[in-house]
Amino acid sequence: MFIDLSDVLSEQHKPIDVSVPLELDEMKIPGGPYFLKEKSPVHIKVEHVKGKEISVTGECSLIAVIPCDRCLEPVDVPLDIRFEKHAVTGKDQAEQTEETEESDYIDGYHLDVDKLLYNEILIGWPAKVLCKDDCKGICSTCGQNLNEGTCDCEDTSLDPRMSVIRDVFKNFKEV
Ligand SMILES: [Zn+2]
Ligand SMILES: [Zn+2]
Repeated sequence: MFIDLSDVLSEQHKPIDVSVPLELDEMKIPGGPYFLKEKSPVHIKVEHVKGKEISVTGECSLIAVIPCDRCLEPVDVPLDIRFEKHAVTGKDQAEQTEETEESDYIDGYHLDVDKLLYNEILIGWPAKVLCKDDCKGICSTCGQNLNEGTCDCEDTSLDPRMSVIRDVFKNFKEV
């Protein structure tokens, strides 16, 4: 979704205050793509500051589906995105000042809402996601989700000499 900035940049500098749908529905980042759901509309305000400089503020809430770090089960992670930015419109990069930042979400006189939100979601992306604090993870041998049950894999962390004894016991049981 693009917002036309010409009203803000016109002589009257008419502010924009709109709610628009977020079309972005996945994050294509390493380990992903990660899906986004239950997205609220993006409430966004654009105001003129000076010259070609504008302020862009807004908010959006959504749920990112991210696999648990230990067991890989998908976890619904609510994200509340709030942003307040200063940007320079037009193609005159020379006007970019210290207060403004690189604004790849502005293309000429259009603001790309999805690109802006993509950047903001990335900034708010959680570093670690667990389905629950005491997630037991998965067996490294067979992939069994250890929250759902145990498996019969041998614990390879045991002393290898012990496995000889275990084999003896196994053979004994089979008799
Ligand atoms: Zn887990
Ligand atoms: Zn296993």
